[in-house]
Amino acid sequence: MKGKLDPGKRQELIEEGKRLKDALTDLEADLSLLSEQLQREGQKIPNMTHPQVAVGSEAAATVHKMVGSKREFDFPVKNHVELGESLELMDFEAAAEVSGTKFYYLKNEGMLLELALVNWALSELVKRGFVPYSTPDLVRSSVIEKCGFQPRGSNTQVYSVEGTDLCLAGTAEILLGGLYMDQILSEKQLPLKLVAFSHCFRTEAGAAGSATRGLYRVHQFSKLEMFVICKPEDSERFHEELISIEEELFSSLGLHFKILDMPTEDLGAPAYRKYDFEAWMPGLDRYGEISSASNCTDYQSRRLSIRYRPTDDIILPTGKKGKAPLQFAHTLNATAVAVPRMIVSILENFQQSDGSILIPKVLQPYMSGRELICRKS
Ligand code: AMP
Repeated sequence: MKGKLDPGKRQELIEEGKRLKDALTDLEADLSLLSEQLQREGQKIPNMTHPQVAVGSEAAATVHKMVGSKREFDFPVKNHVELGESLELMDFEAAAEVSGTKFYYLKNEGMLLELALVNWALSELVKRGFVPYSTPDLVRSSVIEKCGFQPRGSNTQVYSVEGTDLCLAGTAEILLGGLYMDQILSEKQLPLKLVAFSHCFRTEAGAAGSATRGLYRVHQFSKLEMFVICKPEDSERFHEELISIEEELFSSLGLHFKILDMPTEDLGAPAYRKYDFEAWMPGLDRYGEISSASNCTDYQSRRLSIRYRPTDDIILPTGKKGKAPLQFAHTLNATAVAVPRMIVSILENFQQSDGSILIPKVLQPYMSGRELICRKS
């Protein structure tokens, strides 16, 4: 009879339906596991690199520019630890007792120098249109990952807070990128130029380590970081702008430094191109990295989902006008002041034969007009 199945066939089809439903449930579970795995593996793929970037390790870095020259000393130079301890600007012994090695107390003019550096650079950047922020010290590990850093694993630089999904932030770049996570901006809002004061925490796992004492490589430091979100076609121009701001800042402190175009193996996952600034540190008798400026193109914005809608409509294949599709923005970051290495550079370069330190002119208004750091014995 039409529309009726014999009961045996009907039962068979019901069983077959159940089997298919179960198989589908299993396949969906497999699919979700595989997409998670794909996501995890995909996160590990680094950004593309600029065609002019040298291929290789740190040794392949090319000098983009040299600024200033080494100061000639007519007395034996001291390093920043000797100078800082004799001037009572820092205390490593107490910090080692209280917090551990690679921590420090700054005190007297050492502490004032930290605030002077931050306040001076901040006012310079606000003048140039950067919006100032201070950012949280703790951040979700998912946001760290979306910025292209690995919050876990044996070689991670990131401290995790036990029993939570939070980590201590290694740089304000993560907090400033996270600020615009999952947002659709309008073209008119771009560029966004931000600057953040933050505390940075780093495990320094695997760091080559003779310098366990001193300010050069520490677990915690203050930093003023610039961050730009812009249209793709503008990111190379903003990279140049960030580099020229850094150059102006470090020149006006009176430092001698070189700007290096860093090779592929030194870019980390997110950077498409990175310039490092290395200042001459006479007490350490070498150049040391004080700053870097990276163009991360759309690497972070794809993971953070930072998109914008172009203002102009487009002509659709139908010939009608329609909204332009969403675009991923580009992100850039650059260090304005990483405090400890700035203090190393200032103490070692501007030391006098009597052990006092000349304060750079631009910082004097931020240190109550003082010109010299000295201790009366
Ligand atoms: P990064 O965010 O890694 O590009 O670091 C920015 C700047 O912070 C570097 O150029 C250094 O001047 C400084 N810096 C990085 N790590 C440390 C550290 N462990 N101790 C002191 N300064 C650091």
